[in-house]
Amino acid sequence: MRGLQCPKSLYLYKNFIQKRDPISAEQKAIFSRGNNVGTIAQKLFPGGINATPQKHYDYISAVNKTQQLINEGVEIIYEAAFQFEQVLSIIDVLVKKPSKEAIENTLPNEGNQNSKIQNQWFAYEVKSSTKISQSYLLDASLQYWVITNSGIPLEDISIITINNQYIKQGAIKLDDFFSINSVKKEALQNQLLVGEKVMLSKLVVENLNMPEVNIGEHCFSPYNCDFMGTCWKKAPKNSIFEIMGIQKKDLFILYNQGIKTIAEIPDNNLLDKNANIHIQSFKNGTPRIDIAAIKTFIEKIEYPLYFMDFESFMPAIPLYNETKPYQHIPFQYSLHYKKSKETREEHFYFLAEQGSDPRKHFLENLLNHIENKGSIIVYDALMERNILNSLKKQFPEHAAQIDLLLLRIVDLMIPFQNRSYYHPAMKNSHSIKNILHALIPTLSYTNLKISSGSIAMIAFEALQTETDLFKIIETKENLLEYCKLDTLSMVKIYEILEQQ
Ligand code: SF4
Repeated sequence: MRGLQCPKSLYLYKNFIQKRDPISAEQKAIFSRGNNVGTIAQKLFPGGINATPQKHYDYISAVNKTQQLINEGVEIIYEAAFQFEQVLSIIDVLVKKPSKEAIENTLPNEGNQNSKIQNQWFAYEVKSSTKISQSYLLDASLQYWVITNSGIPLEDISIITINNQYIKQGAIKLDDFFSINSVKKEALQNQLLVGEKVMLSKLVVENLNMPEVNIGEHCFSPYNCDFMGTCWKKAPKNSIFEIMGIQKKDLFILYNQGIKTIAEIPDNNLLDKNANIHIQSFKNGTPRIDIAAIKTFIEKIEYPLYFMDFESFMPAIPLYNETKPYQHIPFQYSLHYKKSKETREEHFYFLAEQGSDPRKHFLENLLNHIENKGSIIVYDALMERNILNSLKKQFPEHAAQIDLLLLRIVDLMIPFQNRSYYHPAMKNSHSIKNILHALIPTLSYTNLKISSGSIAMIAFEALQTETDLFKIIETKENLLEYCKLDTLSMVKIYEILEQQ
């Protein structure tokens, strides 16, 4: 799969693994989420035997153990390993059972039908996603190629995904929570392609020289390559790739014309309006401040001000009744309160205890903390609005109060999004981190243990099963620090706008 994205990435992986970029906290969490979903999906096929090797890299013993289990007549194998043409494949679940057609075609008066039905092998690959991507199909095609060519004919191969319409009521009903999708048709169509690509990939790995591959759009598709630290390190300072929010294809059109830095981008380029505001602002070295537009924005805002930020997490396997997979569950908020322009801000917050549905306490505390007058300032209001609307449905007794909160929300992102205030250090982005970096570099997330919403999400999810008291306290302190900085940043950014 790596070789399909880029032969150089495959070569580096096989020969210079030490050059691989460090795995981020977000990536680790995605892997661990995948493992959790995989373990639960095994329960769809209870009673199997696991062929996972005792040592992580001892795959040959896993292949041998799988073969031994098959020879012994084991009919459900987890993590079944196969090898063909030096390609290893580990399928999440391998099951031997009668095919649906065989059962349907057996006449009811044939006595003990099961003894007459020929059992077949079925392979299942589990994904923690709710959709089947092209990469998953190719991955399953490769699995099919390895397994069938190593002597196990497969009656079917399926990708198990999460059903995003599932709503939890009591214990998770596995048959409803997971969707089993046969992909044998696509796997069969891809067999020739897989064979060719495997042979090409083997040539790449065995070659003494690294393939020469220039950086390109393929570095980001279908996944961000983890050798960018190696291939991209020659990018010059103020490279065109530092401009955010532009499609990679448009940047590579410039790059392939020999334009490497922002200063070299001609005025008659085909980039969009915002990108050109950035390019001009960068070339002039000056911010762009539309004082009239900022004043109009500020005039709509009324004291007292509530600077509000929510954190939510999205468990793949719903934890609470009436929730769906990957639903945003709010667990924390930070609130900076400013009574008037002259007064100092005060801080309020809520952070849920782990282990129970946080939504009721979250809402009750929020409604207590916010009085019924003044503007509620958020940065990028979409998430906060969505969460308040879903709380409205869950707690209709508070719907009227929530509606009033929604009416008072002002999105501080707007003057930055519409470029009423633009500074070249924002790099064509209006994310709060870039605004902060440009306007108040002393207030930074860099030294925080939790430095992004996605890490906060993962940290709180991990707390649900954490038993080490010190870790729990530490994580909670880190979460509080992170969310507090979000709203403090808003206070300071707002003050800058107010001074214009
Ligand atoms: S960074 Fe790009 S060119 Fe380098 S190995 Fe990865 S995909 Fe290939």
